[in-house]
Amino acid sequence: MTSIQQNIEHITTQIRRSEQKCGRAPESVQLLAVSKTKPVEAILEAYHAGQCAFGENYVQEGSEKVDFFAEHHSDKTIEWHFIGPIQSNKSRLVAERFAWVHTVDREKIAQRLNDQRPADLPPLQVLIQVNTSGEASKSGASDTEIFALAELISRLPNLTLRGLMSIPENVDDYAAQLAAFEQLAALQQRLRQHYPQVDTLSMGMSGDMDAAIAAGSSMVRIGTAIFGARDYASKA
Ligand SMILES: *Cc1c(COP(=O)(O)O)cnc(C)c1O
Repeated sequence: MTSIQQNIEHITTQIRRSEQKCGRAPESVQLLAVSKTKPVEAILEAYHAGQCAFGENYVQEGSEKVDFFAEHHSDKTIEWHFIGPIQSNKSRLVAERFAWVHTVDREKIAQRLNDQRPADLPPLQVLIQVNTSGEASKSGASDTEIFALAELISRLPNLTLRGLMSIPENVDDYAAQLAAFEQLAALQQRLRQHYPQVDTLSMGMSGDMDAAIAAGSSMVRIGTAIFGARDYASKA
């Protein structure tokens, strides 16, 4: 067994244990393997360990991987999620290559993704990225912007609103992690009253997965704990 396979097994066990500890149904939390900066060989290893959903952050790099798998492994049912910042001039690749996008935070991007989604593909599954820490410098919609954005997305035929996502400040303190995630979960509850199809809460990374699951996460985004540390030097 390779180390990537071992890591997936280990993380999956940890997720099941966290679900059980806080009284959540088994398999209510999905694992999204974040493969940014990692080669297609590493993704294949994870796939062979049973992992089907992968997250990418960079439009160009992610699209190349999607194309590689479509060309060389068209038998494989891999689900690609875009989880990085979206510049409007790069939105077309996101609309054409990915099944999910976690980082819609403004109306202009939602409209462009809808207009650029190819007619022969199912609707793009959309999460609104929320800025729970309220810092002006961070990306993400504010609490008040979410509802107008959700209203637009729900009217666009090529997008399906599925829920919310956040990347809270990186802190070690469990109570602080939990408080930020509970804030997002509360917003999700409010959103659901208007849009019953909303079922996804994308929160939790390698360092704060347990708190996210305790607060109600349905999808944890794990990179380092599966693929090891990232080397950004080669991308500069
Ligand atoms: C890189 C990244 C992750 C994975 O982070 P790890 O700490 O490596 O688990 C999750 N979500 C987003 C949005 C990321 O950019």
